[in-house]
Amino acid sequence: MKVKLRNPDREVETSGNRKVRDILRELDLDPDTVLVIRDRELLMREDHVTEGDLVEIRPVISGGAIKCRRCGGAAVVEIRRHNAAFCRGCFLHHVREQVKRAIKAYAMFGPEDRVLVAVSGGKDSLGLWDVLLNLGYRVTGLYLGLGIGQYSHGSAEVARRFAEDRRATLLEVDLAQTYGFDVPTAGRRGSRSTCAVCGLSKRYVFNRAALEHGFDVVATGHNLDDEAATLLGNTLRWQTEYIARQFPVLPAAEGMVRKVKPLHRLSELETAAYAFLRRIDYVVEECPLVAGNTQLRYKGAMNGLEAGSPGTKAQFFLGYLDRGAPLFRSEERAKLRECERCGQPTTGRFCAFCRARAQILGERLGPPPADREVAVELSEEVLPAEIYGGAMP
Ligand code: AMP
Ligand code: ZN
Repeated sequence: MKVKLRNPDREVETSGNRKVRDILRELDLDPDTVLVIRDRELLMREDHVTEGDLVEIRPVISGGAIKCRRCGGAAVVEIRRHNAAFCRGCFLHHVREQVKRAIKAYAMFGPEDRVLVAVSGGKDSLGLWDVLLNLGYRVTGLYLGLGIGQYSHGSAEVARRFAEDRRATLLEVDLAQTYGFDVPTAGRRGSRSTCAVCGLSKRYVFNRAALEHGFDVVATGHNLDDEAATLLGNTLRWQTEYIARQFPVLPAAEGMVRKVKPLHRLSELETAAYAFLRRIDYVVEECPLVAGNTQLRYKGAMNGLEAGSPGTKAQFFLGYLDRGAPLFRSEERAKLRECERCGQPTTGRFCAFCRARAQILGERLGPPPADREVAVELSEEVLPAEIYGGAMP
């Protein structure tokens, strides 16, 4: 008789006219982990099968066929690049270990530091907040309302509920209320792309909020996929200055708080699995304005390579950090001074955010400069030029 085994699919020939129990024993299967099916009918251990029967045996524990690398229990998450699978408990341990390793390797912050985690309501940043709370760090969340309709409302709600559930503090800044414009308006009126002005606003508000509330460091939820896609984009264009600054930690400078990315060793799949297994309610939908953007295409390209050779993404980005980054680093540091409008650090008279804002609101920033002095943008989170949207003044 034929027995069809599932996950992985295969067929074996065995003798019939005996009990289900005996067949399972022969195939070395635990009766508590499989369903035995004949013609849409479930069979019990003591049921008889005959020579002409076609029987299907289906595992019930997802991944039950694969064992956890750490404890040998039934695995629930498989990580192909590590050639490993983990059960729930060991996977959560793995994620925390990767974060601890990142924090230590780059001396991101210590137990005394006050950490501000920028939370978007997505899996990465909420997962990061969760891990850091769990590890006992002094962390506060920061949510920036970007005014992107229902997407922003939903994200804010999710971030508030997370904070409430854990009795953690969430700071909120609303772009429109505080600075007079929202992201959709900025995209229509400004000379930068929507994603560019959104990124600029985030960097500006994160830094300013951290300084004003006395935080030592700002942490964002950028994961391995984000970093690999950005590095790919910057490399395709040989944006050497952006490449040089793409690092998991950016040290503090005058008027600029330290920035860190503790999830850079974890893939998007890992952060999603972490959030799911920790039962974190997160916003699954993507920003509606981001559709088709360049960064997503780079992620798609990296995933294509990864599918054929697991580990490509990690080799590309983590390999860059180890061996590539030192080749790009330059000693030069731009001389900073205070923006004449808002006081934040800039290389020119007005910072990039104030210039973008004035343009969006149709305001003048003061008398035209006597010399042809223009600010070089202090882009910290480094984006590929195409998204970045040209338009340096
Ligand atoms: P993104 O630029 O959307 O890929 O997000 C990268 C990181 O920026 C996230 O992991 C968050 O840490 C942070 N972030 C994005 N959007 C927001 C937001 N609206 N408020 C606060 N932090 C955000
Ligand atoms: Zn300014």
